[in-house]
Amino acid sequence: MRIAILVLLVLAAGVAGSMWLAGLGGTVEIKVGDSLVATSFPMAVLIAAIAFLVLHAILSVIGAIRRWPRRARVTRTLRRREQGDAAVTRTLIALAAGTGDAARVEVRKARGLLGDTPQTLLLAAEAERISGNEEGAAEVFRQLAGRDDARFLGLRGLLRQAMQKGDWDAARAIAKEAEAVQPGAFWLREERTQLALETRDWREALALATPEQPRAQLALAAAEQESDPKRKLELERQAFQFDKGFAPAAIAFSNGLRQAGSLRKARAVLEEAWQAAPHPDLAEPYLVVEPDALSRLRATEALIRRNPAAPESRLLLARSAIAAGQLGKARGALEPLIASGEADRRAYLLMAELVEAEKGDAGRVAALREEAEAAKPAPRWLCAHCGAEHTYWKPVCTACDTAGQLNWTAEAPPAEPVATRPAA
Ligand SMILES: [Zn+2]
Repeated sequence: MRIAILVLLVLAAGVAGSMWLAGLGGTVEIKVGDSLVATSFPMAVLIAAIAFLVLHAILSVIGAIRRWPRRARVTRTLRRREQGDAAVTRTLIALAAGTGDAARVEVRKARGLLGDTPQTLLLAAEAERISGNEEGAAEVFRQLAGRDDARFLGLRGLLRQAMQKGDWDAARAIAKEAEAVQPGAFWLREERTQLALETRDWREALALATPEQPRAQLALAAAEQESDPKRKLELERQAFQFDKGFAPAAIAFSNGLRQAGSLRKARAVLEEAWQAAPHPDLAEPYLVVEPDALSRLRATEALIRRNPAAPESRLLLARSAIAAGQLGKARGALEPLIASGEADRRAYLLMAELVEAEKGDAGRVAALREEAEAAKPAPRWLCAHCGAEHTYWKPVCTACDTAGQLNWTAEAPPAEPVATRPAA
């Protein structure tokens, strides 16, 4: 509507202008040498207007002809880009569908149309990988790693390949290079942790570990690898501090302290650990220094004084009391444990031992041994991966060679053990 009004206004102005020009009259004369060209003024204005329009049209055509090659080039580039993008999409679909050969064909087209960009190279490497051509993929990854704008992508692919092949030396070198390109990348940290675990480089694994990871175990494993006694003791201290309930760390730290001459501290560490999580292995280093059964009973009472009602405390007290001939004390420790329903096999066996020591009913002893068979098993170090049982904690399961899978547990082993070889 507004445009129509505008056109009407322009037309009205044009007609008014023409009428005004016609009414104005007058002539325009051009004198060239002796000849004279004369015309009316309105006609001269009309001629000038037509001449302007013709000149404008000629210049526009010349401009269009000059711009034509560039426009053709842009059109061609756009078409290639569109076709290239379509080839990239088809490559992605082929990769998602797991058809390696189709992916290789499409990515070759994409590279022809778009050139070697980080995207097309990465897709080419994936297509080679999915087709099982690891060497071809490695070549493309190396090409990517050689570019400034995609070095990390190339190194990531090469690292993944080295880890899969188990080529740990190469993996370590690539990880170091990748760390320099992209410091602190989350994915890289995880790969480096995995690498450290695979190569049993516990110190490196500990340095990379987050608070959610079992740092006490890593620190203790690192301490076992350490030959320098000072550094070893420091790592054992760290392991104990990370998790006071992790008995192997407390035992190692306590032993280290005793060797360094700090007997009182060595005992205090075991007491603290017993308070955090009573564990039968803590008792041995605590009691072994005592000369006779009676002093071992007194030491037992000192060790368990902060949580005397814990099942492990009752079991330890009963065992020490039976050894010292204080049968009433042993009974006082065992009876509430068995009554609580929390007792495992060991409680019934100790009770049987106690009844025997009391010269009690042989039938009762036999009944207790039977009950022990039916009771839940005692906790032990169990590999969560293969189900092998271990006498002591170790950083790596000797049965299945898996790192960090040994747990202190009373649970049954996994339903389908991976390895059948018994633990050493
Ligand atoms: Zn195992």
